[in-house]
Amino acid sequence: MAIDSHMHINSMVLNDEKKYIDLINQNSDIESVINVGLNLKTSQESIDISQSHSKFYSSIGVHPLYIDSQNLEELYELARHPKVVAIGEIGLDNTNSNLEEQRKYFLKQIIIANELHLPIIIHSNNSNKVVIDIFKRYEHPQYGCVFHCFQPDLEDLKYLESMGYYISFAGRITYKTAKKSIEVARMVPNELFLVETDSPYIAPEPLRGTINETANIKYIMEKLMEIKDVDYQEMEKITTENTKRLFKKML
Ligand SMILES: [Zn+2]
Repeated sequence: MAIDSHMHINSMVLNDEKKYIDLINQNSDIESVINVGLNLKTSQESIDISQSHSKFYSSIGVHPLYIDSQNLEELYELARHPKVVAIGEIGLDNTNSNLEEQRKYFLKQIIIANELHLPIIIHSNNSNKVVIDIFKRYEHPQYGCVFHCFQPDLEDLKYLESMGYYISFAGRITYKTAKKSIEVARMVPNELFLVETDSPYIAPEPLRGTINETANIKYIMEKLMEIKDVDYQEMEKITTENTKRLFKKML
């Protein structure tokens, strides 16, 4: 069975959330999922879903593109819930110019994660160097982190490896244009990568352009099996063990 380490079931673009929850509950190939919040509202919704569905875990946080007037005290309290396994997705996104404000939110949430002994899930859009600089100069995640949808760069990978940080692969690894991601996948040690769908976004080949769902994790795993030259069982074992090693509150 597989774990989808990053998805958004209560995303604003899905208008039939219940249908997608049922599909996961009924899918015997899926062990569990981490449903990621983007702000306080979607984080609270994620916790509500995790509370009533055993396969669901929550990561809660304020995404850099959703930072306006979000109350981080409230986030701190929510994060104590037993099914909250991480803080995220948090980070930096250079498609918006409010980078100073984004840095403040990011740093405060790293501190919250450290105080609560939780790992973080990082969203970094063309910002890996700045994220790494924040870690080096101010505060780094003391209970681990994963760069979700890692944007391929071998130098960044070297630093992450030296810190024992994880990267995760999503649908993009299946695209024809993914040459650099494939190179990174080849280089990353087997004990430092996760898989995710980031559903409902970025559907993998051969379903590119459709609404993505957790069942599609198999296409991402199949691509990685080819790159890493392992069979399906081995790929499941590697990614499940890695996910549970990072997100210690998962059962
Ligand atoms: Zn996401």
